[in-house]
Amino acid sequence: DDTLSGDVQPEDIRLEVSLRPRSFDEYVGQGAVVEKLKVYVAAAKSRGDALDHCLFSGPPGLGKTSLAHLIANELGVGIHVTSGPALERKGDLAGLLTNLNERDILFIDEIHRLNAAVEEYLYPAMEDFRLDITIDTGPAARAMKIDLPPFTLVGATTRTGLLTSPLRDRFQIQERLEYYEPKFLEQILDRSARILGVPLDRAASREISTRSRGTPRIANRLLRRLRDFAQVEGNGRITYDLAHDSLSRLGVDASGLDAMDRKILLTILEKFGGGPVGVETIAASVGEQRDTIEDVYEPFLMQEGFLMRTPRGRTATLRTYQYFKKTPPPTPQG
Ligand code: ATP
Repeated sequence: DDTLSGDVQPEDIRLEVSLRPRSFDEYVGQGAVVEKLKVYVAAAKSRGDALDHCLFSGPPGLGKTSLAHLIANELGVGIHVTSGPALERKGDLAGLLTNLNERDILFIDEIHRLNAAVEEYLYPAMEDFRLDITIDTGPAARAMKIDLPPFTLVGATTRTGLLTSPLRDRFQIQERLEYYEPKFLEQILDRSARILGVPLDRAASREISTRSRGTPRIANRLLRRLRDFAQVEGNGRITYDLAHDSLSRLGVDASGLDAMDRKILLTILEKFGGGPVGVETIAASVGEQRDTIEDVYEPFLMQEGFLMRTPRGRTATLRTYQYFKKTPPPTPQG
């Protein structure tokens, strides 16, 4: 069950578009990042310039795509959306870049997955708004430069460390999104419930907010599942009792951990004596991609104090032993 994973499911897409915040005012949380962006956007707008290139990083579902869209909205410019893996050839990128209007936003999701040839092609476009293309091959080959309109590249990535430094350095604005505190998730849930037209009790909203792994996408996804339970088994209203029971049935526990979180932690405890164990080994043991472990699961488990990263690998914490009601090994003496 991937109710809790940060991945985008096809059924999410329609819903995400309808729930997506459209202005800074509707964008909940991430206060420090939003305050800075407001200034940069207002300044670019008043000068009539394209906004500087922005790089947003953070685990999936925290609102990077939403930010890109709402910045375009606030700037009153168009947005063109693509992703690293979708840009297979230079021509794909050239097609997009030559179609931009002045000050438009080009949003590249998963920008760390651009291939090297396309990435290099992006450098002069970002720096000088210029494309260097080669026409013909062999002795007849000629280099040509095509001027592009000034534009803003907004890149999204789960970890900035995955970007090459020449690419990273070309983003003048770099911001990291953090997991949301429950009080902000509550606001997001209340807004989503209003848009979806489902009555959501205050205590229920609070309960969901603490069990959503700090992630708006997961909060919205759980809300939709609870709406189903409320419609079929309740009277249509999401009450605290309904939320509490349904979340447990969905495999979401009171700490917000899901089945994969628990599987990872139990693997470390039971198969590897609490660690340290390498992430590759963990991935193989639980049957999940290494990247997914590092991008989706680990950051949350570390933030919540269930996992530690050491130079020799991942280690369970005292909290993990307590969570599973297991006795931690005695600390080595000396
Ligand atoms: P990915 O990188 O996996 O695409 P993302 O970080 O771009 O994820 P979004 O698609 O922007 O995430 O956000 C997922 C959903 O969460 C949005 O549709 C929106 O409904 C909600 N959301 C995200 N951030 C916020 C926010 N700050 N305020 C209100 N809703 C939000």
